[in-house]
Amino acid sequence: MSIDGRVAVVTGSNSGIGLGIAEALARAGARVVLNSFTDRPEDHALAERIARDHATEAIYVAADMSDAAACRRLIDRAAEALGEVEILVNNAGIQHVAPIPEFPAEKWDAIIAINLSSAFHTTAAALPRMRAAGWGRIVNIASAHGLTASPFKSAYVAAKHGVVGLTKVTALETAEEPITCNAICPGYVLTPLVEAQIPDTMKQYGKDRETVIREVILARQPSRQFVTVEQVAETVCFLCSPAADQITGTTISIDGGWTAL
Ligand code: NAD
Repeated sequence: MSIDGRVAVVTGSNSGIGLGIAEALARAGARVVLNSFTDRPEDHALAERIARDHATEAIYVAADMSDAAACRRLIDRAAEALGEVEILVNNAGIQHVAPIPEFPAEKWDAIIAINLSSAFHTTAAALPRMRAAGWGRIVNIASAHGLTASPFKSAYVAAKHGVVGLTKVTALETAEEPITCNAICPGYVLTPLVEAQIPDTMKQYGKDRETVIREVILARQPSRQFVTVEQVAETVCFLCSPAADQITGTTISIDGGWTAL
């Protein structure tokens, strides 16, 4: 069976990459649960719009991915509303940049909780449901920083390396079942998160937008082009397709050559 009709949960999906993934899964016929920590009318309207546009079911469930119990409740609420969870995309993530001695301890804790521990808790809650459904796909959105490091991103790099490790363990624990777990490792994607950094970086370097993008932001991305949200989203769909049935426990880099350097 393809993605059509499957129940999919995408964490952190009211903007950026997560929203693109939810949209692509809905387009492929999945019944989708969108999530973030806010509970605004526009969050629910987003799910309604996706359901309408793609003639499928879509709901929004507010849950704070820094809270272990809330992560597990998200999976339970998704299952109560739409049926056993079959596709889980762990995408929620935040960033903070500072040298280690100045890195606020609470930022470290938040990044580890949202970017890494949430994937453990949602996976723990979803695996029994995937087993009950007889099929499952877990896709963890890691990063090129799950495979390489940059200064000043201690928590993010540690969390994303942790996500890659969790991906391998999940794959081994499900290896003989019709369940796979993989991580996608994007380079820079032009989401609102990255867009917001451009004006400050222009000021800091005294350079125009194009120069800052090419020489500063994409300095480590040999293609000198942003990865697109759609490229990440379509890779998630590929990992949920029968062609990927034997792909498990691995990382797929979408980074314009970053990790080849
Ligand atoms: P974004 O800020 O647009 O999206 C992050 C999402 O996570 C949002 O929906 C946000 O509401 C949600 N979120 C944040 N804190 C949350 C919490 N406590 N509980 C629930 N949801 C929460 O950023 P993005 O660029 O789309 O990033 C999405 C993922 O992709 C992240 O894991 C990020 O690390 C990863 N990534 C991004 C890039 C990039 O260049 N943009 C590159 C590699 C990996």
